[in-house]
This record gives sequence, C-alpha cells and structure tokens, in this order.
Amino acid sequence: MGKFIYLDNAATTRVSQGVLDEMMPYFCGTYSNPSAMYRFAGESQTAVDTARERAAAVIGAKPEEIYFTGSGSESDNWAIKAAAEAYASKGRHIITSKIEHHAVLHTCGYLQKQGLEVTYLDVDAAGKISLGELKAAIRPDTILISIMAANNEIGTLQPVAEIGKIARNAGVPFHTDAVQAYGHIPIDVEEMGIDMLSASGHKLNGPKGAGILYIRKGIKIRSFIHGGAQERGRRAGTLNVPGIVGFGKAAQLAGGTMELRAAAQIKLRDHLIGRVLAEIPYSRLNGDGADRLPNNASFCFRFIEGESMLILLDQSGICASSGSACTSGALDPSHVLLAIGLPHEIAHGSLRITLSEETTLEEIDYVVDELKKIVERLRGMSPLYEDFVKKGNQ
Ligand SMILES: *Cc1c(COP(=O)(O)O)cnc(C)c1O
Repeated sequence: MGKFIYLDNAATTRVSQGVLDEMMPYFCGTYSNPSAMYRFAGESQTAVDTARERAAAVIGAKPEEIYFTGSGSESDNWAIKAAAEAYASKGRHIITSKIEHHAVLHTCGYLQKQGLEVTYLDVDAAGKISLGELKAAIRPDTILISIMAANNEIGTLQPVAEIGKIARNAGVPFHTDAVQAYGHIPIDVEEMGIDMLSASGHKLNGPKGAGILYIRKGIKIRSFIHGGAQERGRRAGTLNVPGIVGFGKAAQLAGGTMELRAAAQIKLRDHLIGRVLAEIPYSRLNGDGADRLPNNASFCFRFIEGESMLILLDQSGICASSGSACTSGALDPSHVLLAIGLPHEIAHGSLRITLSEETTLEEIDYVVDELKKIVERLRGMSPLYEDFVKKGNQ
C-alpha cells in the first residue's frame, strides 16, 4: 500500500489499542446479559458500572446521570424529542442555532411538523452565536435551548458556560451536542450549567455504535426506547456491553491525556493553517482563529470545487473531507458555511482537515505540499480563475 494519511478524525477515529484490549473479553468471554441474576451476569454489570463512572468523570457528572445510547445522533434525538414531550404543558418553543449537526437540525424540523416552534439563532462570521440574541429569543413558552459545544465542520467553540448561565437564569433546560468536544476540550456540567449533553464513542478513539446522553438529575425527560428496564427504565434494550466498556475506556484515556494531546495538536494545526494561508493564494480559514477545536482546520479555496480537491488528495493517499461526512455526496454547499456568510461559490471550495494524536509534522508538511500542487492544477483548469486573472485579480 502507498501512502495513507488519515485526516478525517471529525468523521470518525481509529479505535485505540487500549480501548480494543479492554473490549475484547466482553465478546466471547464475559458475554453475559448484565440484567440476569447469576454471578456471571454480575461481571458484565460491574464492567458497565466502571464504564459509567469513567464516562461521568470526564464531564464532572454523577455516574447515575449517564445513559448509554447507540450513537451521538440517538442522544441528540432523545434529548430534544423527549424534552419536547416532557415539557409540553409548559410550552412548545425550542431555541437552537443554524450551524447544528443534522441530528439536531432534522430533529427540530421534525418537531416543527408536529406544531412546535423553533428559533434558529444566527452565527457571526466566526461561527459564534450572540448571547444577546439568545437572551432575546427566550419566551415564557421556551422549553429547551440546544446549542452545540463545538462545531464539527469549522471547529468553532460556543460560549457554553455563558449559555448555561442564561438558560439557568431563565429556567430553561440546556442541552449541548458535545460530540466533537467531549474528551477533547474541558467540560464541566456543573460549572457550565449543562442539563443534557450528547457524546459519541467513535469520535474519541472508541467504538462506533456507543454514545451517551448525560441527563442532570431532576430534568424531566421521557423514555426514548420502550421495552425492558435497562438504563433505569429510560432506554430499553440489552446493553451493548463491549461498546459501553469501550466508550468508558476511551473516555478515561481521552480525559487523562486531554491537555498534552490538545497542546500537541494545536501546534500542528497552527503550523498547517499558517502554511496554507501563506503559501496558497485566495485561501481562507473558516471558523474562529483561537476558539476552535485543537484538531480542526477548515479552509475554503476560491475557484475550486471541494469534491475535486478530495479526489486528488485521495490519489495522494490523503483522507480529508469537504465539511461534514453526513453531507458529502450532496451538491448543496454546507449549511454551516452559508450561515457564517460565505457565498455559494466560495463555500463550494471547502476542505476540512482534522488531526489525530498520531498525526505528525511530516504528514502535515506532505499534505500542504500536495495541496499546493492540487490547487494550482485545479485552478489551471478553471475558466473562472482564468477570467479572474485576466481582469487583474479584482
Ligand atoms: C458525529 C456527530 C454527531 C453524530 O454522532 P454519531 O455517533 O455518528 O451518530 C452528532 N453531532 C456532532 C457534532 C457530530 O460531530
């Protein structure tokens, strides 16, 4: 095999060896259903308890406030749909933002069809919501504020603690989609006033198909999957013991190495951003310069189609993305890039590079060198670019 450089860690990550080792005994050895009565079941139950403690510790939650789910998408759906139902007697208004993941946006759209009202807050050019607009949007019938902690496309971090304070003062529950943030940047549900939080194992070197929803004690919420009494009767279904064990281990490892990992990634990320902006003309960085995920670099290159760039990068052994894994294949430009005010033609030329802890400086330099050639080659074939150069770069 030729070169293989994986820089799409916002889409998913490799399961780390430590996580896999921790999971393995729970497939063929300790395969018991934790709900059963014999001692063999107790072994699975103990492993689940440990995972719950580890998952809670990363965000300063209590273990009994952690509910295991099948994905980050499920956690988002659960938080929003079940809160809408539980608080129906208080009101039918939800506040979210225009740059949420589709797991939040499409859930809100679904609820609108059921008659709920949804306010989609604008974001500024860096991708941040305005706290003033948030305050102004709160009404007596507002039952939920759902704002993501970190954006999956442009990496922008939202002022979660300030949002939590505003929500608390208004007496409105606050949910945050922290799928990109959990285990990557410090989060404390107490200090930040977070009432519900979604996270997903496969975004932090854990397994796919294992997520959590943190639900603060006292928050009213309905069961999402009806059936058995698992997860205190709120989320039925035989527990995915290996997945849960893997989530717990991934959370523990990510929490323990967060500071060092972030520092190393920020160094590489800023090297990448610096080189791209300096060496590739008509390129821009999307998202906030400082308040961004340690591993995220998102760019737009004028006169270029993101898709063509990805195909050529792939031929150079580089896995990257144009934005969100969930929207690639679609011809519409990303709703996030449009929301930060980019015109369609610029939003089409987007490239997202997301690092892992295994990413090296050599890899980053190789990527920039290849990217320079690719951008030049694509612009050489672009009538728009030709026109632009003829008109004297106006
Ligand atoms: C990946 C992602 C999700 C969905 O998580 P899955 O576990 O893949 O369903 C939701 N929100 C954000 C911000 C994400 O990055």
